[in-house]
Amino acid sequence: MTAAAEPLSPLPPPLNVDRLIGELNALAQISEADPPVVTRVVFGEADLRARAYIRGLCEEAGLIVTVDAIGNTFARWPGSDPALAPVGTGSHIDAIPNAGLYDGCVGVLGGLEAIRVLKQLGFAPRRSIELVIFTAEEPTRFGIGCLGSRMMGGVLTPMQALALRDKDGRGLEELRTQAGFSGALESVLLPKGRFHQFVEMHIEQGPFLEAESLDLGLVTHIAAPASQRIVIEGEGGHAGGKLMPGRKDALAAAAELILALEAAAKSTGAIDTVGTVGVCEVFPGAVNSIPSRVLLTTDVRDIDGGRRDGVLAALRKTIDEVGARRSVVITTELINADPPTTCDPAILDVLESSAKAAGKSYKRMVARAYHDSSFVACFAPVAMLFIPCRGGVSHRPDEYASPAWIGGGVHVLARTLAELAA
Ligand SMILES: [Zn+2]
Repeated sequence: MTAAAEPLSPLPPPLNVDRLIGELNALAQISEADPPVVTRVVFGEADLRARAYIRGLCEEAGLIVTVDAIGNTFARWPGSDPALAPVGTGSHIDAIPNAGLYDGCVGVLGGLEAIRVLKQLGFAPRRSIELVIFTAEEPTRFGIGCLGSRMMGGVLTPMQALALRDKDGRGLEELRTQAGFSGALESVLLPKGRFHQFVEMHIEQGPFLEAESLDLGLVTHIAAPASQRIVIEGEGGHAGGKLMPGRKDALAAAAELILALEAAAKSTGAIDTVGTVGVCEVFPGAVNSIPSRVLLTTDVRDIDGGRRDGVLAALRKTIDEVGARRSVVITTELINADPPTTCDPAILDVLESSAKAAGKSYKRMVARAYHDSSFVACFAPVAMLFIPCRGGVSHRPDEYASPAWIGGGVHVLARTLAELAA
């Protein structure tokens, strides 16, 4: 995929979209899979080469690069008042197996291009501007998303991190030191106020901006999931021999819970509340056998944590009621419950005025998948800037964002960083 001749005006003259697309394409060549397929798993050989490539570009741009104990990378353009908390931008460069080249890379290389544009314009920021490349946004290796930002935000403790293993049984400690990252994991945690404000640019990973012919999405909320495992223990038996009175059919009980979750999610009346049972494993799973045990998983998401927890509480009530009425034993285990994020109104206002100044169309919208910004929100005000992606396709080799879309995003990001750091 190369830069097409698309109209880029009204961009400021130093914005070099061709260079940026060239760098995105060069980064895409650094892959565990044959290009154009991008696969970069954290601490793998391609991940390390990609980090070195980005580091080189940052140093070429005159940024001061530091790396923390888990590999989160910070590239700083010092402001005239270095005592002030910096303004941050950035995203991730790891990619799930069989992915494309835009995903988080647009936020990293686009952030770098925004900084280069401001430098070339002779802009002198009062606050430092810092580009952050987060370690392992994707859960591929350790089964947990946003590893680096999660540790920065203190949502994953060093003890919990040390317990992580990949599918080959290799631990985080072995893998990070082998990759060259050392130092106490405790030092990854960042204090509140470490960034004055933080803006992450990212492809939408959904179809709405393209379908509505909009240049940009200003993200007001980032939804977050709570997921749990539910095991229902009933009593098995012969489907013919055991009559209906007194049955303890685990699957019939599960059916009630599945419908109860659907009803609870609908009952909030909010379009942003969603509830899903994605797994239903039935034991023993024979046509002539009463199910004795069922495993369900539930995934409840919302932009409002209280409302999401209300759905979980309603389900809890049904679990207790069904368990008692049907004489089945139901146990639940919370897998995760990450906090939804409300983006900072002040950053959103600057994004909006920047979009207007750049002549870009936009709308305010919700991010349905979570991002590193969800965890940066633990220690700094955040907002996100979405650019369209073709057909809403992401996490596939045919993921695509046009040079015009990317250029528009970088233009607005540059204006926003300038104003936030002024
Ligand atoms: Zn991403």
